[in-house]
Amino acid sequence: MFELDETQRSLEQAVRAWCEKNLAPTVPALEKGETLPFDLLKTLGRDLGIAQMLVAEAERRLARLRSGEANAGAAGEADTREGRGLGGDPMLSSVLLKEISRVSPGVALTLISTLGCAMAIVAQGSAGAIERYAIPVLSFDKVGAWALTEPGAGSDAFGGMRATAAVHEDRIVLSGQKTFISNAPFADVFVVYARVILDDGPGPVRGVVVERGTPGLETGPPLRKMGMHDAPTGEVFLQDCAVPRENLLGSVVREPSARGGAALETLNLERAVMPAMCLGIIERCVEESVRYAKVREQFGRPIAEFQAIAFKLARMALSLENARNLVFKLAWAQREGKLDARLASLAKLYCAEEAVRVALEAIQIHGGAGYMAELPLEKLARDAKMFEIGGGTNEIQLQTIARSLLG
Ligand SMILES: Cc1cc2nc3c(=O)[nH]c(=O)nc-3n(C[C@H](O)[C@H](O)[C@H](O)COP(=O)(O)OP(=O)(O)OC[C@H]3O[C@@H](n4cnc5c(N)ncnc54)[C@H](O)[C@@H]3O)c2cc1C
Repeated sequence: MFELDETQRSLEQAVRAWCEKNLAPTVPALEKGETLPFDLLKTLGRDLGIAQMLVAEAERRLARLRSGEANAGAAGEADTREGRGLGGDPMLSSVLLKEISRVSPGVALTLISTLGCAMAIVAQGSAGAIERYAIPVLSFDKVGAWALTEPGAGSDAFGGMRATAAVHEDRIVLSGQKTFISNAPFADVFVVYARVILDDGPGPVRGVVVERGTPGLETGPPLRKMGMHDAPTGEVFLQDCAVPRENLLGSVVREPSARGGAALETLNLERAVMPAMCLGIIERCVEESVRYAKVREQFGRPIAEFQAIAFKLARMALSLENARNLVFKLAWAQREGKLDARLASLAKLYCAEEAVRVALEAIQIHGGAGYMAELPLEKLARDAKMFEIGGGTNEIQLQTIARSLLG
């Protein structure tokens, strides 16, 4: 259970080699905003057969929908039989994200955001929506964005949501504003979450698919931020934006209890993939630090011989081991259909906190060189901070874990 199998290991090697050859040299241009990550992702998707695997998964869902076996979106429930990772193996997705994040967590964020949009459509969309919107995103021909957060609704995304989706016989009309949305400035396809408005008042929150170019949809320019410079983030503005009714994901039936319903399922999946990205940061920082501590000499000996440095390395190794075990456990739970909010929150909280801590320790071990942009560490530290906020803050993960304990 705690070792990669042959397929997983060979994907790890293939992605590592690909990233060293194609991604690492592009990172400086991505960081400065001189280039965008989307063409690179398209090449990665094609070179490593990832697009093929993702499309095959969506086509299986399409076949089931067409044969009438799947009852898409009944009561807003997501069909999660697919979406359990590349080729049905969540560990393959984890390996892919870990490897990309060793070099560029931002490019991995771009990837999960575009795929998050497509997977939400695959899980809950009609056959038409899957074919028209999800498959081009999974083939990397189009860029997706997944828009839940609003200026007034972040941690309380569902309770505070102001965006509305008025349901008419043949169309849905969206109004509202979304912010901090990954890929938004350049995305072609958006899954926008909004509160459904029915004849007799507000209904549940549902995802609605909107294409760029639809009248009433505008996006803002990329927002300036602390890290993740290689993952463009922006706002989405919707004003009387009408889309066909079949773009609604799930039904308009009110859920008796859950506030988030199927949107929360996608959020849990997002939380479940972020630990693998943090693991990539931790793994790279440990490797760089061990290597440097052995060769950097001060006071006539390698700094690794100072206990203060050796103990830092030992603690970093502990974080690496724990994060790796959590990522394995998450992959196992996803494969067995046993992923729950508690486990996703536990893993995301731990791995995010340790990614920040380990990256800062790695900078400390490298001294002034660690602070310089020539080494990857300051970027990894800035990028790591995002994981303590995006996909639900540390405080919200703690709340979820505490609730699971206290009922
Ligand atoms: C780089 C980046 C990319 C992102 N990409 C996306 C995306 O693609 N799609 C999307 O929908 N969103 C995205 N987000 C938004 C992200 O999910 C939100 O920023 C996050 O959920 C927090 O919401 P907020 O920023 O409004 O903070 P707030 O909710 O305003 O929180 C502010 C502070 O209050 C704390 N707090 C809030 N409520 C409680 C409570 N009940 N108990 C204790 N403390 C509390 C928080 O933990 C935090 O410390 C992205 C964010 C970033 C930074």
